Amino acid sequence: MDLSVLNIPQKKIEQLNKKKITSVETLLSFLPRKYYDYRFPKSLDNARSGERCSMVVIIKEVRKKESRAGIYVEAVCREKYTSGFISIRWFHQEYKYNEIYNLCEMEAVVCGKVCCNEYGWSFLNPEVFSTDVDGALSIYPVYSKVRGMADNYLKDTIDKGFELFGFEETTDKNTRDLFCISDINTAYRNLHHPGKPEDVSAGQKRLVFDTLYSFAYDMLKTAHENRSTSPYVPSLLTNCNRLIQTLPYDLTTDQKTIISTFVNKARRGERVNALLQGDVGSGKTVVAFILMLCMSDNGYQSVLMAPTGILARQHYEELVRYIEPMGLKAVYLSGDVKGKEKTAALKMIKSGEAQFIVGTHAVISKGVEFNNLGLTVVDEEHKFGVVQRDALKDKADEGVHSISMSATPIPRSLALTMYGESFDIFTIETMPDGRKPVDTRRLRTDEDVFRFMYVEINRGHQAYIVCPLIDSSETDDDEEKRKPESVNEIYEKAKGFFPESVKIDMITGKMKDEEKALKINAFKNNETHILIATTIIEVGVNVPNATIIAVMDADMFGLAGLHQLRGRVGRSSLQSYCLLRSEDEDNERLKAMCSTNNGFEIAQEDLKLRGTGEFVGLKQSGRDANMELALKYPMFYRDIKNHIKEVIYHEA
Ligand code: ADP
Ligand code: MG
Repeated sequence: MDLSVLNIPQKKIEQLNKKKITSVETLLSFLPRKYYDYRFPKSLDNARSGERCSMVVIIKEVRKKESRAGIYVEAVCREKYTSGFISIRWFHQEYKYNEIYNLCEMEAVVCGKVCCNEYGWSFLNPEVFSTDVDGALSIYPVYSKVRGMADNYLKDTIDKGFELFGFEETTDKNTRDLFCISDINTAYRNLHHPGKPEDVSAGQKRLVFDTLYSFAYDMLKTAHENRSTSPYVPSLLTNCNRLIQTLPYDLTTDQKTIISTFVNKARRGERVNALLQGDVGSGKTVVAFILMLCMSDNGYQSVLMAPTGILARQHYEELVRYIEPMGLKAVYLSGDVKGKEKTAALKMIKSGEAQFIVGTHAVISKGVEFNNLGLTVVDEEHKFGVVQRDALKDKADEGVHSISMSATPIPRSLALTMYGESFDIFTIETMPDGRKPVDTRRLRTDEDVFRFMYVEINRGHQAYIVCPLIDSSETDDDEEKRKPESVNEIYEKAKGFFPESVKIDMITGKMKDEEKALKINAFKNNETHILIATTIIEVGVNVPNATIIAVMDADMFGLAGLHQLRGRVGRSSLQSYCLLRSEDEDNERLKAMCSTNNGFEIAQEDLKLRGTGEFVGLKQSGRDANMELALKYPMFYRDIKNHIKEVIYHEA
C-alpha cells in the first residue's frame, strides 16, 4: 500500500523513503530499536544518578533562558513523592515552552535520564506527558531516527498506518496454537505499543517464527532437491597420498577420518555435500587441499573460493608450493586480476591445463568455463552472499561435490539439528599436537597494551592490533553510543609510544587488494613488527611469528569474532597472547574469552549469552542472519523444522 494513503506531506514521505520506508507495510515493519521501561516511576529517594527512569512531578514554574549553548526552556518542579526540587531543561526545543506552561501546577510524567550533581537533581531533554496521556508510565519504544522527523510524528504516522492496513496472515490457527504464537497483526501492534515486556517478546517470537519457518522451509526444499549422486568418482589417489606423505606433520585422526569418509562416499557414486567445521587453526585447509588433489588424480578440476583477496592469495600460494613439484597447475582469480592476465587464466581453466582454481567469488563469475569440474570448496562460507551460493547450486545439480569450511564451529549435535538434512557434517574436534593455548588477558588502557607488546617485540616476535570497524550505516545520533577507537588513532598513539626501530603499519578494508597484499607480505617477512588493522585480518591470515593480538574496545566485538581474531596467533610452538582492551569490567563475552580457548565451547557460550530466551535482534536480513537466528533458538528451529517435515513431506 502506497504511503500517499496516509495523507501526509510529500516532504515527510521523502524523509521516510530515505530510510527505505516506501510503503505502509514497510512503515509498520519499521520496528523500535529498543524499549525503555517507564512503567514504575522513581522518586528522588530511590533514583540513581545517570539512570533512565520516569518520575511524576508537579511543574511549578517554566521560563525561557539563554546560555552559551543557546536558548533553552527550563521547568522547576517538585517530585511528587518526596516533594524535592528537580529541574528540567530542554535545549533547542523552544516550542516546549507553551506545552509545559499549560501543564503548570498539574501532575506530569517525565521520562528520560536523570542526573544528580552539585546543583541538585535534573533531567535533560526528557519526554514529558500529562499523567492522563497514553504513553505516560508505559513501555516506551525507541525508533531509529528518521532524519527531519520528530519521534512523535513517526509514531502517529505508524498508528495511522495501522488504521488502514493489516498484514496478511500466513500461519493457520492450529499452527499458531501449537507454537504459542500470536497472529501477525497482534504481533506488530505489540511491538509498536507494548503494555508490558512480555508483549515485546510475544511479538518478536511471532516474527522469529516467520523467519525461521521460511528458512527451514528453504533448507528442506533444497535438501530434497539436491542431487545425491555424482559422476565424479575418485578411483586413483596417487598425488593425494604423495602430499600426505610429504607433509612435515602427521594428520590428526579427525583429518584422516574426514578424508576417508569423503573418498569412500564419492567412490560409491554418491555426491558429497559437506560442512567441514573445526576450530581456528585445526587444519581445515590442508584437508581441502588433499581432497582437491584426490580430484585431480582422476582428471577433475577443483575450485577453492575464499571471502577475501588476502585469504585467497594465501591459499593459492600454499597450494602452489605443494603441487608444483608434482607438475600440476593452479590459477588465481580475483577482481584485481584483469586484462591479459585474466584472459590467460580463463584459457588455462577452459582447456583443463589448470587443475586448480583458487580465488575470490570471481572464480564463479560468468566468463569462467570449467573443464570437468568435480569439487568446489568454499572457505569461511558464512561470509558469502546468496548470489554466490546460487552460482554454486548449478554445479551441485551436475553432481559436483561441495565442501563448505565453516570458521565458527558448533557442537556436532547442534550442527545436525541445523543442517543434518542438507549436509554431511565433517568435524575436526582435536587440534594438532604441540599447540600452546593462547594466554588471554583483559587490559584497561592502550598504554598497558603497548607495554605488554613491547616485551614480546623485543623478543623478536610480532603483533597485531585490531580496532572495531566503524559501521558508517549506523548514523543514529544516540547519546549513549561510545565512539570506538579507530585504526588511525591507534596508529598515531603507537607511533608516539614505540621507538622508531619498531616498524608499525596499518591496513584497512578500504585499501586495494594489491596494497593489502604488500602490507601483509611485509608483515610475513618480519619487516613490519606491528600491524594495525580492522577486522579484515579476522579470517585466515597465517603469520606464525606473530604472538600477540590486541583487540581495542574488545567489548564491541561479538564472541565468535573475538575467537576468530585470537586464532591469528598461537600458530607455532611459541607462547602467544591475546590482549582484550576494554573498560567494561563485567563483560560476559570477554570473561568467556579468558576462560576457554576451545571454539566449540565458545560457540556454546555465545549461544547462551545471546539466546537468553528473549527474542531480539531481528534487524539484519539475509541468510547469515537467518542462520544466526536459528542458532540462537535451536530448539524452536528444530520444532519448526519437524513440523514442516511432518506437514509437507509427511516424514515423522
Ligand atoms: P584453519 O582450520 O583455521 O583453516 P589452517 O588450515 O590454517 O587452520 O591450519 C593452521 C596451521 O596448522 C597451518 O599452518 C597448517 O599447516 C597446520 N596444520 C594443519 N594440520 C596439521 C597437523 N595435523 N599437524 C600439525 N600442523 C598442522
Ligand atoms: Mg582457514
